[in-house]
Amino acid sequence: MNEKKPNRIQVKEGKIFFDWQDGRSVAFDLKFFRKECPCANCQGETILYTTFKPQRITVETHEMYKIDALGAVGDYAIQIRWKDGHDSGIYSWTYIDSLIDKYEKLKKAETAGSDCGATASGGKESKK
Ligand SMILES: [Zn+2]
Repeated sequence: MNEKKPNRIQVKEGKIFFDWQDGRSVAFDLKFFRKECPCANCQGETILYTTFKPQRITVETHEMYKIDALGAVGDYAIQIRWKDGHDSGIYSWTYIDSLIDKYEKLKKAETAGSDCGATASGGKESKK
């Protein structure tokens, strides 16, 4: 498998930019990036098929969406320390890559407004 890696990472204007080796570049809102923090505390942990939900953060501060420090973890990830002191999230290249799709969908949904395709019934759709 071809491991994707960024050539360059930049943080500016409330966003984090990644220039990937394959020529693509992507920018995430720091708010999104923080919310997708992969640590167990933020995302919950699955232990014996039971998902333990993290405690909801009820107080949002501007500090939690600002990056205090950013460091490399080996050759496969970055670790971010946010201004509120949270630093247990390690974002691997693979994880960041998987966020691109999610982020684009989210942006698309925001642009589309209420037309997000969610239906009250949900469930299976049979195609003919
Ligand atoms: Zn976290």
